[in-house]
Amino acid sequence: MSHEKRLAQLRRYFDTSGKRYTVEREHMIDVIAEMEGPFTIVDLYKAAKAKGFVHAASTLYRNLFIFIDAGFITERHLSGGKLEYEANTGNNNFLLCVGCGTLKRVPLSKEFKAMQEELCKKHKLLPVSYHYQQKGYCSKCQKKIAK
Ligand SMILES: [Zn+2]
Repeated sequence: MSHEKRLAQLRRYFDTSGKRYTVEREHMIDVIAEMEGPFTIVDLYKAAKAKGFVHAASTLYRNLFIFIDAGFITERHLSGGKLEYEANTGNNNFLLCVGCGTLKRVPLSKEFKAMQEELCKKHKLLPVSYHYQQKGYCSKCQKKIAK
């Protein structure tokens, strides 16, 4: 996604949510887009600080929900209460083993995509992002259950 598209997505969010648009928040969408793979809030803070966009960690922590709500970041709840973040790339489908904590990224089927589009259309929702995470027990952990 280009900077212009990210900016349009951010402006749409501010126009509709009543939250205040700031240049710092605009800069953050590009920092987020450059994050590769899963990251922690500390990783994001370090990346933003290195570019001179954020000075206080508390400011970023307070504003994190904006980037989650606006569809730039997915927040994942892992086992043990840990949180992990990732820039939304359109491939946010995961299987999480609640036994050993293994997180596996899985591709989205055409049927699933079609179902999402149909749901959004039916309920007149302009899609921004989504997050799918199925929790369960992996094959190794299932063997422990059987004993
Ligand atoms: Zn497992």
